[in-house]
Amino acid sequence: MEQKMIDSIVSAIHTKMPEYIKTLSDLVSIPSISFDNFDQKYVLESAEAVKQLFLDAGLTNVQFLLPPSGRPSVYGESLTSPDKPTVLLYAHHDVQPPMREALWNTKPFEASHQGDRLYGRGTADDKAGIVTHLAALEQVRAWKKNDGPNLKFLIEGEEESGSAGFEVILKKNAELLKCDAVIVADLGNFAKGTPSITTTLRGMSAVNVELKATKAPLHSGSWSGPIPDPGQVLCRMIASLTDGKGNILIPNFEDTLVPPTEAELASYKSLGMTEKIFRNDGGILESVKLKVPEDEILLSLWRRPSIVVTAIEVGNRTNAGNVLQNSAYARIGIRLAPGMNADVATQQLVEFLQAQVPYGLQCSITTEDGANPFVTDTAHPFFKKMSESMANAYGAETKFIGCGASIPGAELFRNTFGDIPILLTGLEDPECNAHGENESLYLPDFEHGIVAETLFFGGICE
Ligand SMILES: [Zn+2]
Repeated sequence: MEQKMIDSIVSAIHTKMPEYIKTLSDLVSIPSISFDNFDQKYVLESAEAVKQLFLDAGLTNVQFLLPPSGRPSVYGESLTSPDKPTVLLYAHHDVQPPMREALWNTKPFEASHQGDRLYGRGTADDKAGIVTHLAALEQVRAWKKNDGPNLKFLIEGEEESGSAGFEVILKKNAELLKCDAVIVADLGNFAKGTPSITTTLRGMSAVNVELKATKAPLHSGSWSGPIPDPGQVLCRMIASLTDGKGNILIPNFEDTLVPPTEAELASYKSLGMTEKIFRNDGGILESVKLKVPEDEILLSLWRRPSIVVTAIEVGNRTNAGNVLQNSAYARIGIRLAPGMNADVATQQLVEFLQAQVPYGLQCSITTEDGANPFVTDTAHPFFKKMSESMANAYGAETKFIGCGASIPGAELFRNTFGDIPILLTGLEDPECNAHGENESLYLPDFEHGIVAETLFFGGICE
């Protein structure tokens, strides 16, 4: 591609950035938290807002695709010619809860521009994805007239709560959504200014464990001693999942792991991850030692499973008195590495925990819907095109990276459309704090991301 052409696209997008930031800020102002204990009317409101953006952009066939939960995915299309490739553009309009509001420096649902970042829930994850797709559509239309690719937009409404109905949506609308490639703009860059395409994702699953010993809490002075304490028993059960070094002790848990290729290992190495950077990005306390050596940090994050206790409850802190609690609860999450299967791993975890229950305590374990890990083959020419487009947009070499988190949609796209390229891009970076407090988007990369997608659209039609 001619440098002059790239320059003119870069400058056209630069001029429009204030407008794109405004569109993003409007979306951020809607608290579209897709968790049942939050008011779901806002998810509907954000779906309506996305629908309006689609109509304003002149998309056709605009409609809600409804999962059983009623949290709408929004669909729209811009079709040019059957001779051109068709790309399905994915992002999601729902968000995580703000978590501890007191820790936010700005209002979570009021986008706030500070320095080179835009703060607010959903700025990076994933409302920037929606605006990137729409902006790139506008730009490629101006550039290619009506000669760009066919673009289909699919903006999900319940990604953060686990995409429970997304498979139903894809299956029911497989013909409508049919495409030659998918861009999932819900991932991120290895570092700000480093364009990255994610080629593996970890999967996830979780179980909820409840242990009961007595019918009601008891005075600990009068009763403790002979009766097993559910809190301690649960802690022992959890501790039995790993050895002192953090290795998982569930039998056969890692038997099917797919190891990284030589090329992937080389790419990971080229990223220059150091313990210092990792510690700094994660806010890890100085005295805390890592469980793996420096050269295994990325492998551990991207290619190995992990187990995390995400909640634990025995009585509660405010009412902590001298009580022998009758029950204890924990939610145990697992991250699955490429090669593992969510159903199999969850079942292994359940069986292992059940086998650890002593004293005949009543133990009930419920499982949550899991997501399988994902691996993509980068041989398709679209990967090269995207890699070049990103490099031109960012002015830096594009990296193939892994991701420790899960995007259930990636695997579902694969199951629905077969072996088409699924390009995992996005605008998160190590500082964006998606899912935490003070989520933010690095605005220079927001701009780079729009340029990259525009160049990609033009590039695949040449
Ligand atoms: Zn997301």
